Amino acid sequence: MKTQQRGFTLIELLTVISVIAILAALLLPAMSRAKHKVRSVVCLSNLGSVGKNLGIALSEDPRGTWVHDGYYNQKKIAQCPEATRVADGERGSIDESFRSGPFVGSIGLNYGGVVFEAGKHNDLQGFLRPTTPFALDSCFPTANPGPNDMPATNLRKGTRKSGYYNMPPLNIPRHGDRPLNVSQDFPETIPLPGAINVVFVDGHAELVRLNRLWFLDWHQAYVAPAKRPGLR
Ligand SMILES: [Zn+2]
Repeated sequence: MKTQQRGFTLIELLTVISVIAILAALLLPAMSRAKHKVRSVVCLSNLGSVGKNLGIALSEDPRGTWVHDGYYNQKKIAQCPEATRVADGERGSIDESFRSGPFVGSIGLNYGGVVFEAGKHNDLQGFLRPTTPFALDSCFPTANPGPNDMPATNLRKGTRKSGYYNMPPLNIPRHGDRPLNVSQDFPETIPLPGAINVVFVDGHAELVRLNRLWFLDWHQAYVAPAKRPGLR
């Protein structure tokens, strides 16, 4: 009796390989999106912890002098899982474009609204609005943003023209739709991509789309515009 060893033919092998390739092509983008989503949730949770610590710190020292002492400098929670560069010292910046200001891990403090006011008020806790951003999963604002500040056309480098100088260095959208893709220029008239995580003075953290940044209560004197400057 003749026995024949039956293996895969070349056609069968190629068919199996192409099926695997098609499945991989279908599943990989979904897995990548899921990975970014998980990282965004971890980041939000970290900022929630920053918010809890903020509440404790404000009640122990209502003047807020601790803001300058790096009280919040807990590297593990001040670190976004999506950040590629982080501050190496107590203070520093993740991005060479923005080398100054209070910056821990990969999150920045709201300089104009919180840091600048700390030490100036006997009761910072009473002074701060609950809806003012405390820390951001992004770079820090160099000064108080004004309602007329325009978005940067280049989110990584910022756009430094007179009249709209202050808001641009905020813009590193690590989360949301089309995150991280900030190498291209974005004209002021089109919606900005992505979103950042923000923890507010009342301790709650939420994902804020970059286009919504202009509507946050940045500082005591800030009045949000009816629509984002530049966006038609
Ligand atoms: Zn983040």
